[in-house]
Amino acid sequence: MDLVEGGCFCGAVRYRARGEPSNTMVCHCQSCRRIAGSPVVAWLTFARDQFAFTAGSPVEFSSSPAVRRTFCGACGSPLTYTIADTPETIDITTCSLDNPEAFPPTHHSWLSHDLAWVRFGDGLPTFSQWRNDRS
Ligand SMILES: [Zn+2]
Ligand SMILES: [Zn+2]
Repeated sequence: MDLVEGGCFCGAVRYRARGEPSNTMVCHCQSCRRIAGSPVVAWLTFARDQFAFTAGSPVEFSSSPAVRRTFCGACGSPLTYTIADTPETIDITTCSLDNPEAFPPTHHSWLSHDLAWVRFGDGLPTFSQWRNDRS
């Protein structure tokens, strides 16, 4: 089963990805927090050429010079993240998947931006920025 489907809350924007994600993590960075209005955001990384929007067109904006993020213009769900450094990959918000249970995170990133009251207790490794092996 290597077909992953998901979309925004209202259903206007839908996407599909193929293959296994190369990364699955929970991000504690300030940008993710503010774009989602949420203490943390879980992300999956897929090959960009294996990802496509299948319905609707998300709104795109730059959250920092090298970063493009998309969200649904109708309901606001954050959907994707791309960064110029790694043009071959795209990150998808894990919880916009139809089945987010399929990809539990392996670690937490950007604890240097963490809110003091966020407590997980899941025992997963934590990193002050990106995990060291991120290319
Ligand atoms: Zn929507
Ligand atoms: Zn983040």
